[in-house]
Amino acid sequence: MRALTFLASRFVAGDDIDEAVSAVGVLNAEGIKATLDNLGEDSLTREQALAAAQENFLMLRRIAESEVDANISLKLTQLGLAFDEGLARENLTRILEEAARRGIFVRVDMESSAWTQKTLDLFYALKPRFPDCGIVLQSCLRRTEADVEEAVARGVRVRLCKGAYREPAERAFQGKDEVNANYDRCAALLTKAPLPAFATHDDARIAAALKACDAVGLVKSDYEIQMLYGLRARRRRELRVQGHVVRVYVPYGTHWFPYFHRRIRERKENAMFVLRNLFE
Ligand SMILES: Cc1cc2nc3c(=O)[nH]c(=O)nc-3n(C[C@H](O)[C@H](O)[C@H](O)COP(=O)(O)OP(=O)(O)OC[C@H]3O[C@@H](n4cnc5c(N)ncnc54)[C@H](O)[C@@H]3O)c2cc1C
Repeated sequence: MRALTFLASRFVAGDDIDEAVSAVGVLNAEGIKATLDNLGEDSLTREQALAAAQENFLMLRRIAESEVDANISLKLTQLGLAFDEGLARENLTRILEEAARRGIFVRVDMESSAWTQKTLDLFYALKPRFPDCGIVLQSCLRRTEADVEEAVARGVRVRLCKGAYREPAERAFQGKDEVNANYDRCAALLTKAPLPAFATHDDARIAAALKACDAVGLVKSDYEIQMLYGLRARRRRELRVQGHVVRVYVPYGTHWFPYFHRRIRERKENAMFVLRNLFE
């Protein structure tokens, strides 16, 4: 278990908010922004969901007190969506109120396709009251191009990613080429939305997004490039030096296993890193 915890530390900034805030400080010193995420998903009880909401309040307070350049990301199943939609809505509302009071942006992460519609419904229900929040859309899903068009029409801030969950063929493209082509299509559409965030470590996707932004006359402060903590540190620094706005997703907490598992599953090199270190 200790060895695994050590390995997870490549992708996870620490067990608690203090460690996460110091990781954000290091990124900020390089001119890189952050979004903090308290790891956890699929709360099963009211107590777990309330504790997760509480941790989000703590994140907001610590961001404000420490004056780091960071916003927050959260998952609705952690706030209770899986067993009590009313509770998830209540928790998200309270977090958005607190974030608005402190002037901090909130990003609602996207989970597996089982939750896409419910996540969007709840997000759009609260969005008119809380302008400073945004959503995530995944290019692996067949529905996403339409979701992007709706987000553009509603003037919503979107983070575009490929999608980290295994999805059935009826809902999701199974081939990398299709996922990539859809990413580039959606990225181009998102140039019409406010502050689009292109979240990927894939140079070809970054290049396509930058080209699309350039084609419509966006300047570097009109969009963000986002990456995950522990991945492609050199590349993100290069992008920053070129003047791009770069934001790193900084997860922390003890419920790291599902997140860690997604990272080692999606990339051979990440799995090799784990195996190499286990044998050492
Ligand atoms: C900021 C951020 C937030 C995210 N939020 C969500 C979310 O809310 N919901 C969700 O489902 N998913 C989310 N994800 C995860 C995302 O969906 C993908 O699972 C993950 O980013 C891997 O896809 P990729 O675009 O990086 O490219 P991949 O398809 O994994 O890789 C494509 C290519 O990129 C290059 N590459 C990738 N990683 C590396 C590396 N470490 N070193 C060198 N080259 C590399 C390689 O050339 C590789 O072939 C998020 C990702 C980021 C960056």
